[in-house]
Amino acid sequence: MAPSSPSTSVDDARTRVLGPTLAQAVREAKLLVVGAGGIGCELLKNLVLTGFEKIEVIDLDTIDVSNLNRQFLFRAEHVGQPKAVVAKEVVLRLNPRAAKTLVAHHANVKDPQFNMEYFKQVKTLARGNGLRESHGGRKRREQFTLVLNALDNIDARRHVNRMCLATGKAMIDAGTMGYVGQVNVIKKGEAACYECEEKPVQKVYPICTIRSTPDKPVHCVVWAKEAYKLLFGAADASLLYEAPDAPEPSLYMPVVLARPEGEGMEAAVRYGFRVLKALFYDELSARVDRGVYARARVAPCPVPCLGDEGKGEDAWVALVEDGGEGGGEGQEWTREVWTEERCVLELLGVFAALVGDPGRRRDLGRYDFDKDDALAMRFVTAATNLRAASFGIPAQSYHHAKGIAGNIVPAIATTNAIAAGLQVLEALKILRTAPPSVPSSAPPSLPSSTIVDAGCRVNYIVRTYAGRKRLLLQPTKLHPPNPACFVCNRSSLDVVLDTEASTLGFLVEKVLKGSLSFAQPTITLRGTSIIYEEGEDADEAMARRNLPLPLASLPAGGIRDQSTVEVDDVSQDLTLQLHVYHKRWEGGPEGKGDAEAPPQGFLLGGSAKEALKAAAAAAAAQATERQRAQHLYAAEEEVKSTLRVQVNRKRGGEAREEREGHVKRSRVEGRGGNGEEDGSRAVEVIEGEEGKGTTGTEGEGREVGGMGDGGRGAFEPVVILD
Ligand SMILES: [Zn+2]
Repeated sequence: MAPSSPSTSVDDARTRVLGPTLAQAVREAKLLVVGAGGIGCELLKNLVLTGFEKIEVIDLDTIDVSNLNRQFLFRAEHVGQPKAVVAKEVVLRLNPRAAKTLVAHHANVKDPQFNMEYFKQVKTLARGNGLRESHGGRKRREQFTLVLNALDNIDARRHVNRMCLATGKAMIDAGTMGYVGQVNVIKKGEAACYECEEKPVQKVYPICTIRSTPDKPVHCVVWAKEAYKLLFGAADASLLYEAPDAPEPSLYMPVVLARPEGEGMEAAVRYGFRVLKALFYDELSARVDRGVYARARVAPCPVPCLGDEGKGEDAWVALVEDGGEGGGEGQEWTREVWTEERCVLELLGVFAALVGDPGRRRDLGRYDFDKDDALAMRFVTAATNLRAASFGIPAQSYHHAKGIAGNIVPAIATTNAIAAGLQVLEALKILRTAPPSVPSSAPPSLPSSTIVDAGCRVNYIVRTYAGRKRLLLQPTKLHPPNPACFVCNRSSLDVVLDTEASTLGFLVEKVLKGSLSFAQPTITLRGTSIIYEEGEDADEAMARRNLPLPLASLPAGGIRDQSTVEVDDVSQDLTLQLHVYHKRWEGGPEGKGDAEAPPQGFLLGGSAKEALKAAAAAAAAQATERQRAQHLYAAEEEVKSTLRVQVNRKRGGEAREEREGHVKRSRVEGRGGNGEEDGSRAVEVIEGEEGKGTTGTEGEGREVGGMGDGGRGAFEPVVILD
């Protein structure tokens, strides 16, 4: 586009490129864009330049300085302002004609105002302007023709997916992760919905790998975060915690629990030294002596500078007092890898700060790891590297450790731009097959043809050439809806949990909302007995009464083994038949002490029962393992979407086997989707990343999209509109 051209020339150019019919359809189409971040900025710019004028954009974020390297609508002076509002103002300069029809919402798409009515945008005009239905101070005019997702998390995507299914809107979803990405077109009954395939699950590491046999940097990072929790946070929730009466207690536990003798800096540092010596030297030496590593390829080596051959407690204390505690400032941007001695000093510095400072000491037991907390990251970086040194694993810089600890996947502006471009192409395909436009006074029509007729594709952006045609952009046919999908096909779902120990509150918060993204669930037993409801006019007293009750003790016979529970969500137009199976794991609902207990306390999915059987068989086979080496552990508990769904699903008549922890054809998510897969492959940041971190680890092990997957049809070249 020549900037000096008058707008009529731009229109002429658009008309020549798109043809008069499509150009008009573009001007008249009304779009909902959800998200104005990495993909959203590109998308809004593309849409406006393509000639779209009627756009509503929703985003709840404000602009952070770390966004500026890839969200090109934003400049330094915009930091702190709402993304949706600034994005709208900036793209208006590209097409001032959209001034009255571009609407920005600085809000969460899950807010009640964006309900099904909003998605439908019911048209109520035609009796004079004054009678138009008002919404949020704005007039409702037209239905959305299309919904375009530019979101960075699974939960919001699921919500928009459900709203689009419920209102029959076509949705064009985009997601990127580093160099890979995906653009998918979804419409009820015509193509797979966003939830037809299971999402990548959080990487789950066997606890024995974390506690005893790490062999990758990520294992050490997970261990270091657990050590931080043990020392400064909720100790008994740490993987490294052992009850005082535990069999074969580790040497570090009594030292940790002893807490410092006295107050002040020196006591804190002395305590810190004793803890570090116990963690990194004494316990490891004892394990080697006990023959724990007798069969290991290489026995671990306790950190010498903390042992008897090291300089000793007094010398370390003196070093810290001399100001040798290091400091996390400025570390973020360096690639410096600390020596072992520096690591010890960093750790002692953290003890001095958190235990030695009377103000901070009061919060001991309440610290949560936060990758943006410099003290926490200093601790985790240094502890990771001392742990890694013992096991012959490469050390990490602060920068790389933060990438692993924060599960940061780099967001790359180029990938975002490609994804946003593909979204516009898919939108044009749909509009191209729409019926000729109607006079603006008549109700606008949705395209009557299907998105399949329109030639829509699932587009995979891949990093390396693959397949016969060696394409980096791999369009595949739209996937058919999955008959087993509980969202678009009302299929049922199995859940396995301890019905005697798990409460209704657990079912509502962890299972229904946390894992299944229900917004306002109503739970009905035996067809008629409502035991829980939310939303307007809900019986709150009933909720208060029932939420703390174990499932089996609920009214109307309770939820027991083989109960079927109906879950409705009016706000999402969703009904689910949930088949409940009872299973008691050793050590309570979260199964501490049980090898096969799922970390989140339940198993969910079409084959949760099979998973349970397989788990029981595996447990029997591993009966000789030491008891404490038998948990499963979620590496990142803060991501709510943890689901160990194990799927053995039939699609297209073809049985598809998936092994636990190895999800093929996983969708690509942005931040919050999945963490790194293999911490040993850290990549340099190319153009920034989601979140505020600086590094990502690249999921080399992930199989994105349909690469090498014969079940999805042959790859085709990208369809360029003619
Ligand atoms: Zn579905």
